[in-house]
Amino acid sequence: MCAARRRIDVVTVLPSLFNGFLDQGVLGRALERGLLEVNRHDIRDWAQGNYKQVDDRPFGGGPGMLLMAPPVVRAVEGVRATTEPEGRLIAMSPQGRRFDQAWAGELAREQRLILLCGRYEGFDERIIDVLKPELLSIGDYVLSGGEVAAMVVIDAVARLIPGVLGDDQSALDESFGPDGGLEYPQYTRPRIFRDHAVPEVLLSGDHAAIARWRREHRR
Ligand code: SAM
Repeated sequence: MCAARRRIDVVTVLPSLFNGFLDQGVLGRALERGLLEVNRHDIRDWAQGNYKQVDDRPFGGGPGMLLMAPPVVRAVEGVRATTEPEGRLIAMSPQGRRFDQAWAGELAREQRLILLCGRYEGFDERIIDVLKPELLSIGDYVLSGGEVAAMVVIDAVARLIPGVLGDDQSALDESFGPDGGLEYPQYTRPRIFRDHAVPEVLLSGDHAAIARWRREHRR
């Protein structure tokens, strides 16, 4: 696995939505330690005219607005050109392939990702025709924008970058790990809570028995 710092570029009309999300917890520490770099790019910076218009009404009628092709394509091409490698371009879309842990693992090995977030009623189709992104859905429901989906991808991918979790084994032991199973029940102090006691075996110090118990209790 490549040990170089990973880079994620997010292309969005709402970069400030990522405030807070990028500063805290596992992700905040990964950024601070330089294991990962996340850059936000405002599509409006590539829009033209006094109003910096990025959306317009759909031809043929229908509700809402669409993200316009010119500013979005210019934004992605501009961001792509800032550095090498060109990166893997992924657009957030409910029509995309369903995101899962295996895909997260694959993306964690990429040196650079560019995540394109839709808004309004989605993308003018020429954005997809010209840029040819992979389309990624986080599930069968409709969000107001791709930013939350991009955060899901960033978070799931970051956990799988070597060194991000304190103990690399913890990503392997988790649900959807290499064996595809779900995690076993876990407990911390106190030993008894409202008549519910921690299973004795976990207090035994017998590592083989604990491992066996955990295997047997995977959900
Ligand atoms: N009109 C679109 C449709 O019916 O498929 C929905 C557009 S949605 C309101 C706006 C944007 O949110 C999409 O372009 C996409 O970027 C993002 N989005 C919504 N649901 C998503 C999902 N399940 N997975 C990934 N992105 C999603």
